[in-house]
Amino acid sequence: MEATEKIKGEEIFLGKISIFQHVLFLLILIFLIIIKNMSYYLFHTAAEIYSCIIAGGIFMVAVNTYKISKNNFFLFLGIGYSFISIIDIFHLAAYGDISLYLFTKFDIDTKLWVAGRGLELITILISFVFIIKNNKSLNIFIIVIFYSVVVSFIITDVFYLNKFMPTLRTKETGITNVKIYLEYILSTGFLLCCYIFFKLRKNVDSKLFLYLEIAFILKVFSELFFTLYLNVTDFQNMMGHILKVMSYYFIYMGIIVNGFQRPLDMINYNLSKADIAIKEKEKQRLYMEEIIKQNELCYDWIIDNSGNGIAIILNRRVVYANLTTVNILRAKDLNDLTGRNIFEFVNDNSIQLIRFSNHKQNKFNEIKILNLNNEIIEAEFSINNITYRRKSAYLVILKDVSYKNEIKSLKNELSESEEQLNKTHEYNKMLTEFFSNISHELKTPINVILSAVQLLMLQNIDKDGYYDEKLNGLLNVIKQNGYRLIRLVNNLLDMSKIDSGYLKLEIRNYNIVNIVEEITLSVADYIKSKGVALIFDTDKEEKIMAVDADKIERIILNLLSNAVKFTEVGDEILVKIYDYEDYINISIKDSGIGIPEDKLQMIFDRFAQVDKTLTRNKEGSGIGLSLVKTLTDMHGGKISVNSKVGEGSEFIIGLPVKLVEQTETESNNFYESKIDKILIEFSDIYS
Ligand code: ADP
Repeated sequence: MEATEKIKGEEIFLGKISIFQHVLFLLILIFLIIIKNMSYYLFHTAAEIYSCIIAGGIFMVAVNTYKISKNNFFLFLGIGYSFISIIDIFHLAAYGDISLYLFTKFDIDTKLWVAGRGLELITILISFVFIIKNNKSLNIFIIVIFYSVVVSFIITDVFYLNKFMPTLRTKETGITNVKIYLEYILSTGFLLCCYIFFKLRKNVDSKLFLYLEIAFILKVFSELFFTLYLNVTDFQNMMGHILKVMSYYFIYMGIIVNGFQRPLDMINYNLSKADIAIKEKEKQRLYMEEIIKQNELCYDWIIDNSGNGIAIILNRRVVYANLTTVNILRAKDLNDLTGRNIFEFVNDNSIQLIRFSNHKQNKFNEIKILNLNNEIIEAEFSINNITYRRKSAYLVILKDVSYKNEIKSLKNELSESEEQLNKTHEYNKMLTEFFSNISHELKTPINVILSAVQLLMLQNIDKDGYYDEKLNGLLNVIKQNGYRLIRLVNNLLDMSKIDSGYLKLEIRNYNIVNIVEEITLSVADYIKSKGVALIFDTDKEEKIMAVDADKIERIILNLLSNAVKFTEVGDEILVKIYDYEDYINISIKDSGIGIPEDKLQMIFDRFAQVDKTLTRNKEGSGIGLSLVKTLTDMHGGKISVNSKVGEGSEFIIGLPVKLVEQTETESNNFYESKIDKILIEFSDIYS
């Protein structure tokens, strides 16, 4: 701020100086005009000397500001004008009557004047080249040589040789026509300068353009006045000189403005730019500080929430520890840890490890750590040299690896469980095989017993058709219980087959109505003999669908035997087939004792019975319904039950209607004879 104020103050000061210069120049001009009336020669001398001083000024300014402005155009003009002023001094010396005292030639001053202006015109024209090309450094030596040669030549010719310059003024006729023409040429030349400079205006500063353009215009008029004068002391001559002085002054001003003020402006500009840059840097610094501050918080946050323990050890003592370290070491907080010796936490065996570990490697070593609860825990650590508060310290990273042991023991447990599971599988398989073997082994002797009973029953009848009733009754008991045993064995066999995955359905297309009707009819007499009415009804006479007929028969017989088992004399059993196009429902409904609501779901479980304390004619093993459910499931169907105690039960088998590819619909073909099957399935019921 202070610097810019200072610069502003200097600018005002410089502005005042430049106004003072203009005023001084005007005063000098007025002074020149005043002294002209007193003595023209004095005026001329003063004007020329003043021009020379300005030319010297141009030279001094151009040369001395070259380092700052690097302006070849100014330098060339400066050098040119200094040499021109040499010619002008000679012109002054030879002017008017003075020349008569010194030299014999009358028009020496005029010749020097014209030569001086010619050289000025050439200098200005050449200088324009440097406006266009300012990038090359100027060879001052060559320029000085050039001007020295030209000026020496002009002076030699004018004073001694008198060969090259024509006569420009005679005592008798005054200025010659040649002189007038030359002045016209010069005037035109300066006009050309105006034009060229106007064209080049974009390459120069606007103020410089203004000053120099005015200077060139003044030159044009100055030369025009010189075409008009008759006498070296007349008004036109005076005006020519005044305009020349003015033109010099404007050139001088242009160079001053651009040589001094422009560089100053540039410095000011650069200073203000630097000021802005400094301010910007300051802003960035503050911004960076803010970011660092925020990042510090961020780092703290990261460190505190790192899964690894991070601690700084200085002179073997804890100076910093993050939350994880606090937790691993079971400390209360950071204060609980700070100042503690690191060896407090190290198990005796691990001390060597810490001492000899390579502090430069980012490698983790296993270590046993003693936490503040005096528990030994498994950990991994890595230690690195760091500088902490300008002191050599250690950064320790700690990993609690006790979870690894947990994983290990979990893995062990898992493999043990797997082993156990495999063993159980093996055992199950063995059991199933055993079950199935035993079932076969049981069935064979029962069948033998049944055959023997059958034979005995035949032998009990004599030729006349009489038989021993008592014996027959006993044989029937054996037969009935034989069938019961077969049913039980069959059920156990199926159960074990299902469990071991051996039980497969033999699906074929059958008329399901036919199957269900036939089974119902086959037990009709038997059920009637129990005093229970049996009704069969169907929505449709024929419904072809893919089922395992044998399993369907087991399902229906099972449900019918249950219905008979849990009904009394005078009750009714209704078997009905409902057709719903893509599925059918087979309903077996009885008006028997019913099932309590809370037992409805459990009856499908294996070995489940509603009441185990029932009378002997309702015996069973609790396998039947579970088998029925499994067989229904295997068909893709569903079993459901509606029942009310005292009102009866309805079991509904829902089966999806599907067909398999086969040539003919199977006629029912069963392994065991139907009568045997019925006897077996109904064997639980005592007559
Ligand atoms: P069980 O061989 O004992 O008959 P089930 O699995 O066939 O075994 O039947 C299980 C139990 O469901 C029976 O013990 C009986 O309590 C009940 N139950 C089955 N069907 C009926 C029914 N129609 N009426 C009443 N209770 C029934």
